[in-house]
Amino acid sequence: MHIIILGGPGSGKGTQSEKIIKSFSLKHLSTGDMLRDEIYRQTDLGQKAKIVIDKGNLVSNEIILEMVANKLKQIDKGILFDGFPRTIAQAEGLDELLAKNSSSIRGVILLKVNNEELVKRMRGGGRTNDNEETIYNRVSVFESETKPLIEFYQQQNKLIEIDGMGTIDDIFSRIEAELSYQ
Ligand code: AMP
Repeated sequence: MHIIILGGPGSGKGTQSEKIIKSFSLKHLSTGDMLRDEIYRQTDLGQKAKIVIDKGNLVSNEIILEMVANKLKQIDKGILFDGFPRTIAQAEGLDELLAKNSSSIRGVILLKVNNEELVKRMRGGGRTNDNEETIYNRVSVFESETKPLIEFYQQQNKLIEIDGMGTIDDIFSRIEAELSYQ
């Protein structure tokens, strides 16, 4: 079973992903982690991506889809996609890639956290390098580029809405209960 976790910057996607992959024996595919690894290794891709990421913008669909296509070749079990897709073009690209293996997305977890809380969490933790401008840009890019995915997956009846407010364990219990039906 392939699952996507969708949510704004600071919504807790990464934290919940770690718990989900353990509980449901899935492989974690995080495009953010893959990009951070490229940056750490100072590859050409990493150096270009860093400039885009530091501003809170999105790396191009072509680069992301190529990265994911390569990764999919190495994975032969259920995947949890974290931070991908982030645009409609990426979602369509993913469907095509999976269809080649007669595979598809089973469900899409939407972690619902209001924008005020997202900004608070981003200021408080994680990305301490982000300045205010970058934080607001991340939220605005999420609104314009990624939110349309909610309707995209709703139309396919794949959306699983989860209240993303509360403790890490509370939120995970909600996810676990929903995924058990999948
Ligand atoms: P994340 O850890 O998922 O929040 O990703 C960190 C940053 O990497 C994002 O703010 C984007 O700039 C970039 N990034 C990660 N995944 C994607 C993606 N699927 N498409 C475009 N940019 C991405």
